[in-house]
Amino acid sequence: MNVDQKTIVERTQASDTEELLDRVTVFREDMEPEAIRIIEAELSRRGFTDDAILAHAKNRCESNIVGDDGSALRCTSCDRPAIVEDRDWFRVFGKLPIFPRSVRYCELHSRERHESRPDDDDGVT
Ligand SMILES: [Zn+2]
Repeated sequence: MNVDQKTIVERTQASDTEELLDRVTVFREDMEPEAIRIIEAELSRRGFTDDAILAHAKNRCESNIVGDDGSALRCTSCDRPAIVEDRDWFRVFGKLPIFPRSVRYCELHSRERHESRPDDDDGVT
């Protein structure tokens, strides 16, 4: 095992299961074949069968947003697959609105945003 493979194995073992499932399904086209093999081996070690991985892929494909080239888009706030797209203000220091921008959120950040700003209506459409 070379240094690159050892690094991939260590990072894979330290990653959470949902992230690994997303990498070998939604973001599979972005991955090197060797990395896919290592992640699939780790998922197998954690008890995930091919059927479970396929079920995750099917679930994600029903909800995630894809770009013009057909590839899955990532959340603006993290590396998870985006499920909603919205408009929001780009803010200086997180406060002063400068210009509207397109943002995308994963399931987690969509829920957090809705919970923190349930009545948000700042006129961006
Ligand atoms: Zn996110």
